[in-house]
Amino acid sequence: MRSKMKAGDLVIIAAVLLLAAVIAAVLAVPQRGGRLYAEVWQQETLVERVELTAGTDRVIDLEGHNVIVLEGRTARIARADCKDQVCVRTGTLTRAGQVAVCLPNRVVLKLVGDDSGIDAVAV
Ligand SMILES: [Zn+2]
Repeated sequence: MRSKMKAGDLVIIAAVLLLAAVIAAVLAVPQRGGRLYAEVWQQETLVERVELTAGTDRVIDLEGHNVIVLEGRTARIARADCKDQVCVRTGTLTRAGQVAVCLPNRVVLKLVGDDSGIDAVAV
């Protein structure tokens, strides 16, 4: 009986170690995506440029016209006082190149990646 219990314990320990390895691998993947920045443009002027990391937690309030929420490596226009609400309905941006535009308020939220990977290849 005792030896069976130990065998069972080893299986549990092995399973926990395997699970930990899988979690570590999953967490490591986003790091390879490079840096990601959220840019907030208002009236053709860059008003904010924030690097998005896993720990990003920030709200940018453009004088009540547009409220932009930066959460982890995502960005979205959470609230707006425009009539069409197109910017809010655009939803959450998660990848470089994605853009949310508020035409009535002339506000643009976009995600920009850095091209360090391409630079490394060129050098
Ligand atoms: Zn809007």
